Amino acid sequence: MIFRQLFDQQSSTYTYLLADSLTREAVLIDPVFEHARRDAALIGELGVKLAFTLETHVHADHVTGAALLKRRLGSKILLSKASGAEGADRYLSDGDTVAFGEHKLEARATPGHTAGCLSYVLDGGSRAFTGDALLIRGCGRTDFQQGSAPLLFRSVRERLFSLPDDCLLYPAHDYRGITASSVGEEKKYNPRLAVTIHEGDFVGYMTNLGLAHPKLMDVAVPANMRCGRPEKEDMTNAADTDWAPIAMTFAGILELQPDWLAENPGSAQVLDVREPDEFTGSLGHIAGAKLIPLGSLLNNLNQLSKEKPVVVVCRSGARSAQATVVLKNAGFPRVANLAGGMLRWRAQHLPVEGGTD
Ligand code: FE
Repeated sequence: MIFRQLFDQQSSTYTYLLADSLTREAVLIDPVFEHARRDAALIGELGVKLAFTLETHVHADHVTGAALLKRRLGSKILLSKASGAEGADRYLSDGDTVAFGEHKLEARATPGHTAGCLSYVLDGGSRAFTGDALLIRGCGRTDFQQGSAPLLFRSVRERLFSLPDDCLLYPAHDYRGITASSVGEEKKYNPRLAVTIHEGDFVGYMTNLGLAHPKLMDVAVPANMRCGRPEKEDMTNAADTDWAPIAMTFAGILELQPDWLAENPGSAQVLDVREPDEFTGSLGHIAGAKLIPLGSLLNNLNQLSKEKPVVVVCRSGARSAQATVVLKNAGFPRVANLAGGMLRWRAQHLPVEGGTD
């Protein structure tokens, strides 16, 4: 079997690619919207065919890539019936199986983090993809999306800890970069759910976590209830993005990471759309950047060439995102926003002209 574990840095989400080595049929568990291009590239390079995308649940911290991948690769969207999401090709319930080549994934209802959480058990128990029901030495929160601590306790104890001790566990997230665990390990060492812990202890633990509201929840949940289908259908239309590793945000902004620009100076025109006093101020500016404040951009487009890509920067990445829209509408074919603006550029200790430390 072909197996790859992929990571999204923004939300610490793991995406899993599984494929049959002979038939080349593949499934992707929990794809992330911004990485649809990356995932499609890997699928192409490995020479496999994406048959299905599967969700472990309706995520609150990122938007699924399911709809984009379906459009790009023709994959079918599968998720739990209990999720209540619209637009899937097949709705799964407890005990359903998804076959790819010689292999199969069994859907196991493991509610508690959300009411619709499914875990996927591979080939009778060699690996399990547990979503947010069971994390490595932890578990998903139970304080929103119809979460329930008692329900999660029973899901983990009865539906996951009943798997063989050597069954490898792959969660939907890990915030420390740990990639896998096993049933035996979590039964012993999970500080919330180890077999020595009682349901009452667990419920007490979970009701006192005091976690902040997830940042993306108000965007991600409604989008995931549509299986990640963008609101504006033209969002993924073929802008020319082959000149750099460009990701598209769910807002439809094409973004470039600062380290790429730092490593490839001269490959694009750098347009700084801040005000002149910011350009010469404490954050400094990128060497060779052309200053045209956002407010006067429309009247100064002749200072830029359409022949060369344009990377737009501002302080935080917001004004520059708007500038990419202005440029796109003016017919600039290759435009990207510098993700995080000068703030992230400086935070990553990339070189500037001017500025103070
Ligand atoms: Fe979650």
